[in-house]
Amino acid sequence: MSIINKIQKKINGTQQNEWTGLINAYKKFLPINSKTPIITLKEGNTPLIRASKLEKIIGRNIQIFLKYDGLNPTGSFKDRGMTMAISKAKEEGSKAVVCASTGNTSASAAAYARRAGLKAYVVIPDGYVAQGKLAQALVYGAEVLAIKGNFDKALEIVQSIANDNPITLVNSVNPYRLQGQKTAAFEIIEKLGDAPDWLCIPVGNGGNISAYWMGFNEYYNKKKAKTLPKMMGYQAFGSAPLVFDKIYESPETIATAIRIGNPVNWEKAVKAKEESCGNFEAVTETEIIEAYKLIGHEGIFCEPASAASVAGLLKNQKELPNNSKVVCVLTGNGLKDPDCAIKNNDAIFHSNLNPDISEISKIMSL
Ligand SMILES: *Cc1c(COP(=O)(O)O)cnc(C)c1O
Repeated sequence: MSIINKIQKKINGTQQNEWTGLINAYKKFLPINSKTPIITLKEGNTPLIRASKLEKIIGRNIQIFLKYDGLNPTGSFKDRGMTMAISKAKEEGSKAVVCASTGNTSASAAAYARRAGLKAYVVIPDGYVAQGKLAQALVYGAEVLAIKGNFDKALEIVQSIANDNPITLVNSVNPYRLQGQKTAAFEIIEKLGDAPDWLCIPVGNGGNISAYWMGFNEYYNKKKAKTLPKMMGYQAFGSAPLVFDKIYESPETIATAIRIGNPVNWEKAVKAKEESCGNFEAVTETEIIEAYKLIGHEGIFCEPASAASVAGLLKNQKELPNNSKVVCVLTGNGLKDPDCAIKNNDAIFHSNLNPDISEISKIMSL
C-alpha cells in the first residue's frame, strides 16, 4: 500500500468514527424516518467522569461517576431533546417554535431553531435567568419576552399560545424532547456495561428523570442491560413540589434551572420514582452550594441546579449498600451562571496588586 493510500485509509477511518450527533447514533431507538431533516450540533456522547474525591468522602468502595451533560453544544442536556424537537418541527413544516424557560431551554431552542432556519420565541421570568443563558438566547437570535412572573406562569402562557396558533411548543411536554433525552441513559449503560445502582438527578419539570427512566427501560428490555437503577430525584427545599406533593406558588432557590413550582411531567416523574423503587428528596441551599464546591474540587464546573444531584447523594448516602455504583447527572455547565460562582467559592483572590515581581512572588509564598 502506498503512503498516500495509507493516509487516505486513516482519514476515512477517522471519519467513520466521528460522532455525528445522537440522532445518527441512536436512529433505531428514535421516532425519525428517511424524511426527517436532522438538525444537529453534534450533541450527546458526553463524558462519564469518575469522582475520586467524592468516593473518598463516602467510602465503602462505592463508585461515583458524574455524567457531565454540561458539555453539550449549548452547555446543557436540553440539547439532547432539542435536536429531536427541532428536527421534527422542521419535518412537520413548522416555521416557528416557542418555549417557556428558566434559561437553558431558551438557549438550546434558540440555537437549534437558528440552525434549522426557524423563528424562536422564548418567554422567561424577568430577572431569574442566569447571565450566560440569556446571552446565548440573544446571540443565537431568539426573540426574548421577559415576563413579570415565574416559570410556571410563562409555561401557562406559551401552552395557550401554541394551542391556538401555528407554532411548535418545544418545552418538555413535547414528546420528542424526552425521546432525545433518553439517549443519555444509553450512553451510561454503554460506558458502564450495565445500569448503575442509583441515578441521582436534579428535578425541575420532571422531564429528564422520566426520559432517563424510559432510556434505561428500553435498553433493559432489549437485553443491553441486566439491571435497572433506582431513580433518585432531588429538588431544592424552596421549590420541592414532588417531594412534598404540593404545588409551590412562589418557588425560590439559587438553583434557578429547577425553580419550578408545578412540574408539567409530574405523573411521569412519580412513575419513574415508584417503578424504580427510588426516592424524591429536598436539599437545602447550603447543601447545594457545598456540593457545587466539591464538584469543583474534582475539576468540574457545573451550574447550581446540577449540584443538587451530588447534594442529594451525600444526603442519602447511608441508604446505599457497600460496593454500589452511582451516576450523578450534571445537567448544565457552570459557565452558565458566573454570578453564582463568584459569590460562592473558597478561592483566595488578591486584588489591587502592584505589577511588581518581588511583591507578587512573596504572596505566592514560593
Ligand atoms: C432543565 C434543567 C433541569 C431540570 O430538568 P427537568 O427535565 O425540568 O426536570 C435541571 N438542571 C438544569 C441545568 C436544567 O437546565
